[in-house]
Amino acid sequence: MAGKKFICGNWKMYRTAAEAGALAREVRAAAEPYADKVEVAIVPPFTALWAAGVELKGSRIGLGAQDVFWETQGAFTGEVSAPMLVDAGCRYVLAGHSERRQFFGDTDEAVRKKTRAALAAGLHPIVCVGETLPERESGRTLEVVGRQVRAALAGLDAGEIARLTVAYEPVWAIGTGKTATSEQAQEVHAALRAILRELAPAAADAIRILYGGSVKPDNAAELLSQPDVDGALVGGASLKALDFTGIIQGATR
Ligand code: PEP
Repeated sequence: MAGKKFICGNWKMYRTAAEAGALAREVRAAAEPYADKVEVAIVPPFTALWAAGVELKGSRIGLGAQDVFWETQGAFTGEVSAPMLVDAGCRYVLAGHSERRQFFGDTDEAVRKKTRAALAAGLHPIVCVGETLPERESGRTLEVVGRQVRAALAGLDAGEIARLTVAYEPVWAIGTGKTATSEQAQEVHAALRAILRELAPAAADAIRILYGGSVKPDNAAELLSQPDVDGALVGGASLKALDFTGIIQGATR
């Protein structure tokens, strides 16, 4: 099992630059006391990265982006490249969040290219996988997440795989208030760990596998107590410093 737990807040399409600066300041003050025990990052929208980064300077709270395009520069209106994210102060980037897959057509192949581009720029990608409700109900969960993770990591060497994080986010649990039980989460995390052992045997046990999907202060400790749950990717609850801190505290137990 990986050492330090990792709690990452995905702010989605919320907060202006000024609001993000204020929230980053609050998160920094609240999370810094736990930084020896828990790694913490926030993932604001592109337009707020700079403002949030200014507030995090000199702290141990990481900054990440929600998406990336795989080319480094060019005529790709509306896109942002991995070197641009590094320039904006990012350490992390999400790849394949289910909202990108669902609403913006991100395919397994696009997620693979984004993951590869992020690694090439020195970022740490957080590769998101997860099944829909019909996929779970038809018993296809492990097949779906297995396909997604194998596709995202295809062609990467063990050293590259060692630099990424995997996030298991059941689509039916995101923003719905429905959380996977700790047993459901552990079952999928263990299956993902087995795939990582196959692809990068020496690194697999140290790669963090986060759970995401309606994580709140009152369910975080239980989910995070599972042997293969190494942290959480938190959406809604990361927009309130108090709730986010409650989840970080849950990771210290
Ligand atoms: C997410 O956006 O990654 C997420 C898990 O959202 P929520 O915590 O709101 O379900």
